[in-house]
Amino acid sequence: MTDTHPAIRVSEIFGPTIQGEGVLIGLPTVFVRTGGCDYRCSWCDSLHAVDRQFRHEWEMMSSDAVWQNVVALSGGRPLMVSLSGGNPAIQPFGALIKRGHDEGYRFALETQGSVVREWFAELDVLVLSPKPPSSEMRADWATIEACFQAAQDKPQVVLKLVVFDENDYAFAKEAAARFPRLPVYLQPGNHTPPHPGNENAPVDVDGIMKRMEWLVDSVTRDRWFEARVLPQLHVMLWGNKRGV
Ligand code: SF4
Repeated sequence: MTDTHPAIRVSEIFGPTIQGEGVLIGLPTVFVRTGGCDYRCSWCDSLHAVDRQFRHEWEMMSSDAVWQNVVALSGGRPLMVSLSGGNPAIQPFGALIKRGHDEGYRFALETQGSVVREWFAELDVLVLSPKPPSSEMRADWATIEACFQAAQDKPQVVLKLVVFDENDYAFAKEAAARFPRLPVYLQPGNHTPPHPGNENAPVDVDGIMKRMEWLVDSVTRDRWFEARVLPQLHVMLWGNKRGV
């Protein structure tokens, strides 16, 4: 049967591995990383899925083809599928999510909240990750709010904020105040993100851990007891290596 659904621009599909950050940390997951992003954060750790100079590595794939990859990697055993990027909200994922749900798989998507999709309501987990001042991007709160509304209270929706400095910390507090019902995950930023094409470039784990300690101190000092502070586990384990 021909797959008539729009094609998905894929950078890489890999796993199973564990989710390295946020609300699903530690959970076995297959990743579908899409190609292309409407942002260009100063510290982006996925430039190979953002910068158009890597578009020769990206592939337009049918929902069927993406699905067959997920099934092959998971051995046909349902698990969590993480839709990441780039900005995965740009891609047409509705058909893939429906197909996967029919087979017992679950779907999580993380986005900066710049593109609204009706199919957000079909997800199991929606991670809204507004980008803080250090990214040099500007958060569009009205569109982030529209993403939240599109989810219609169906998936679990959480906020994830990357924090590098005091300004980012203040931004995270503002985000939490705008969405008081949402669980908040804070993550110390990685100031040594991967150089695309050199996955062996060193990571300053000590520096990231210092930022983590500062973040823990800030949260406890401020009695911000609703926030959870987590490092990027995959960076601790594998540095900048891709496909893990
Ligand atoms: S939104 Fe995410 S993928 Fe896009 S440039 Fe920023 S960090 Fe990179």
